[in-house]
Amino acid sequence: MVSAAGMMVAILATLVQIQSITFIEIMVCIVIGSAIGLVFATRVEMTQIPEMVALFNGFGGLASVAVALSDYWLRTQVQATGVDVIVGTSAVLSIFIGGVTFTGSMVAFLKLNGKISGKPITFTAQHLLNLALFIGVIGVSILAIVDQYNINHVLVVTAIALLLGILTVIPIGGADMPVVISLLNSYSGMAACTTGFVLNNNVLIVSGALVGASGIILTQIMCKAMNRSLVSVLLGGFGQAPTVAGADGPEITVKEVGVEEAAMLFDSASSIIIVPGYGMAVAQAQHTIRELAELCEKRNISVKFAIHPVAGRMPGHMNVLLAEANVSYDKLIEMEEINDEFANTDLVFVVGANDVVNPAARTNPQSPIFGMPILNADKARTVIVSKRSMGKGYAGVENELFGYDNCLMLFGDAKQTITKVVNELKDM
Ligand code: NAP
Repeated sequence: MVSAAGMMVAILATLVQIQSITFIEIMVCIVIGSAIGLVFATRVEMTQIPEMVALFNGFGGLASVAVALSDYWLRTQVQATGVDVIVGTSAVLSIFIGGVTFTGSMVAFLKLNGKISGKPITFTAQHLLNLALFIGVIGVSILAIVDQYNINHVLVVTAIALLLGILTVIPIGGADMPVVISLLNSYSGMAACTTGFVLNNNVLIVSGALVGASGIILTQIMCKAMNRSLVSVLLGGFGQAPTVAGADGPEITVKEVGVEEAAMLFDSASSIIIVPGYGMAVAQAQHTIRELAELCEKRNISVKFAIHPVAGRMPGHMNVLLAEANVSYDKLIEMEEINDEFANTDLVFVVGANDVVNPAARTNPQSPIFGMPILNADKARTVIVSKRSMGKGYAGVENELFGYDNCLMLFGDAKQTITKVVNELKDM
């Protein structure tokens, strides 16, 4: 809301100043832009937010390209003004970063909503081709800055940037996509910042720099949480179907638990840790979980929530959902703080989480999630896992925790089964 209000102020301020376009033209653009935004925002599901963010980043990049291109072109038309080195460099950077952001974000959007395969798309000499294009774009950019009245160089920079955006994002897949989206978000900020230099607009420079810097910080945090280096994310290839023998671990035999028995386990525990994951968001089970937690607390059972930094599909996903359900914030404990407590906990209730509690991340070097820090749910005395089936998580690998001696599977949609557990507990 604050950003939208800010944009409105910017548009109104522009209206007061402009001479080259009419009030009607601006109103038409506002109506078209607002209508598109409204349709997207009302239709999008909570679980589709990452692809929505990808789309918005892309539009931000496209806007920077459009503004920088038109400004450069206008200057080439006026011989007296010309394009000085600072404006020329800023325009070329804005077009390059904005172009990469636009097509890169579109590929990320299509991958996330399943229109194209979410798996990494790789081919021989891919990185070499990208490198050659990158060197090429530097050369043409220098020409664009030196030869100030020729729009063709800038058009070539635009074309290469658009191509590079596609080529750099297609090899990235699997659990690395959120990192890429965060990085593209940072790029869109940098593109806006350089556009600020083109237009000599301090507000755009500062706000673009803020988005660029915060995006980079978030990217770093996510890389750390997934134990991935930024370079290995950018080089891609992660998230392909496991080709190495043993990547999926041994065959798993599970033990099922019924609603009644699960309710009895809750009733007899003195400490419970709830581990929410993506399935909680799909089932929209947060309100029922809060009810379950309250029922347990009334019986003097200690209840805490363990929050993995990449649980769900976006940073803070679990925090937002649990806050929506009025779960007190001090009950949400970060991974580093709570991990030692699992071993002394009677019952861990895993709700729609999978990858973030997969012990393969610790034990199986062949697994694609090997090295990712996980919640030590397996160390608790008893673990109950609420999920619909033996379906895999985001990384597409089996979870050996489900076959452990201390683990019981409570199959079914999280909201429906937890509602039944709550009803059982109320009757006890
Ligand atoms: P996950 O590994 O994706 O597993 C989610 C589980 O939820 C699935 O195994 C699914 O099993 C279950 N599920 C789905 N619908 C359900 C329902 N209605 N009721 C009950 N269960 C349901 O989730 P996670 O443990 O939260 O891990 C997150 C993963 O996403 C990580 O790999 C992370 O790297 C990645 N990621 C994170 C972010 C981020 O920024 N947080 C963004 C994108 C990706 P069934 O099909 O058997 O029900």
